[in-house]
Amino acid sequence: MAGPVNHLAGIGMTSPRTRARMVDRLREQGIRSPLVLDAMANVPRHLFLEEGLQHRAYEDTPLPIGEGQTISSPYTVAQSCELASRGRPLEIVLEIGGGCGYQAAVLARLARKVVSIERIARLVGRARRTLRELRVNNVLVRNADGSLGYPAGAPYDAIVVAAAMPYIPDALKAQLKPGGRLVAPVGSGDVQTMMVIEAREKGYTEREVEAVRFVPLLPGVA
Ligand code: SAH
Repeated sequence: MAGPVNHLAGIGMTSPRTRARMVDRLREQGIRSPLVLDAMANVPRHLFLEEGLQHRAYEDTPLPIGEGQTISSPYTVAQSCELASRGRPLEIVLEIGGGCGYQAAVLARLARKVVSIERIARLVGRARRTLRELRVNNVLVRNADGSLGYPAGAPYDAIVVAAAMPYIPDALKAQLKPGGRLVAPVGSGDVQTMMVIEAREKGYTEREVEAVRFVPLLPGVA
């Protein structure tokens, strides 16, 4: 990301007012958690995008971040954060598919620590740089294949998966604390189902939320 953090502050499409309108829209779309709404209001989404796209940052749409990947729409990010956190502050969260680092920055306001796994090295470099510029220092970004989670940081209060998984591996569920939640788009077609898995003292509960569209989870690092 070129230039100092506030180089576009004050320009209409990226102003705090534009972000506040995005938050109003999220409320209308059904996001309830004050913690999540507050986090969305405070993370400058445009700074995670390249300059040519920054004016579109607060539209409710996914946008390209290079390497054939996308930043999820504001609603998708807010919804998965709300489902994962249930509106409570969390201790440690795992994000699989960190991309540009935007969702990690939102999660960083909901949790004491975030571990974000991203398979594409160039995106990892960029996410680290942007998070550093924004002085977000409770996110650890790792360049790795997160298909089976990140056991070294487990157990987690929440696991948020930002790329579509054909199914949810048992090894991933096993990284949840009791009471912890896993939120993931599940399916192998263009449209998947957002699933919420909750770990109980014994076993897991599963719930289908709604149809969603995510880029696929891919194997290996790149
Ligand atoms: N949360 C991101 C959304 C990124 S899109 C954001 O806020 O921008 C999903 C990301 O998942 C892509 O960057 C893609 O490279 C990554 N991904 C796909 N398969 C992966 C895997 N097996 N391990 C880690 N990251 C993966």
